[in-house]
Amino acid sequence: MAELTGKACLVTGGSRGIGRAIALELGRQGAFVAVGYAHNEAAAEEVAAEIAKSGGKAFAFGCDVQDPAAIEPAVAGVVERLGKIDVLVNNAGITRDRSLAKMSSEEWDAVLQTNLSSVFHLTALVLPHMVKAAYGRIINISSVIGIHGNFGQANYAAAKAGIIGFTKSAALELARKGVTVNAIAPGFIETEMIAAMPDEVRARILEKIPMGRFGRPEEIAQAVAFLVSNGEYITGQVITIDGGMYT
Ligand code: NDP
Repeated sequence: MAELTGKACLVTGGSRGIGRAIALELGRQGAFVAVGYAHNEAAAEEVAAEIAKSGGKAFAFGCDVQDPAAIEPAVAGVVERLGKIDVLVNNAGITRDRSLAKMSSEEWDAVLQTNLSSVFHLTALVLPHMVKAAYGRIINISSVIGIHGNFGQANYAAAKAGIIGFTKSAALELARKGVTVNAIAPGFIETEMIAAMPDEVRARILEKIPMGRFGRPEEIAQAVAFLVSNGEYITGQVITIDGGMYT
């Protein structure tokens, strides 16, 4: 039997990049996966189909996590289809980079709502199910930018730092209820988010990574799967995966 057979998982932002790799890995290990997307339904359906081919079960669900009113019915629908909820991966995220002097309040709000407030809303909605079952794994995708900050990313850094504070607090509250809460803080990972950077910026970043390459989405996915299958005594942690860049 595969490691995660029987586990019901909700992954936000599962249509592309890191979330896609997480959904595929959980599915490959036998889990039943709800693959979230905002705009890219076809890509999420393709991920669900690939999971089905690899022996897992999956379906795609649309939900704009920037909109709190959209989250409640979406989570209710997902829990109904999964039958329960064992694992929540809060992965959906955006950037709206701008120097502080030029950043608009729309750019601030969009990033804080999508990357941080959604983590609260989704967690609050799955929590009663996890507490009732005395089992849950919540994994929040933060970023090394939330630890170190970055030029032009005050909104993104604030949201990702907020995820770390949220994770540590939730872990304290839930440790005795069978629910673990951890954050993964990736460094620079090869996804569309990174592909959008100008070549000279990519080259400058690469010079600073001791491993000499960007991370791969699959490397984040393996850490998520580890926390789900072996993470009973791991909670309130921030796991940095960055090729040694900041350590
Ligand atoms: P991508 O841009 O490749 O994918 C973003 C995903 O989030 C897509 O699935 C997208 O759905 C979804 N999404 C975006 N906005 C919303 C929304 N409003 N509601 C629901 N889903 C939404 O990002 P990455 O894979 O690179 O990043 C994934 C996570 O990892 C993010 O939280 C990011 O901050 C974090 N991270 C990434 C790093 C990197 O180097 N790439 C480094 C550190 C952290 P759709 O396809 O429908 O648009």
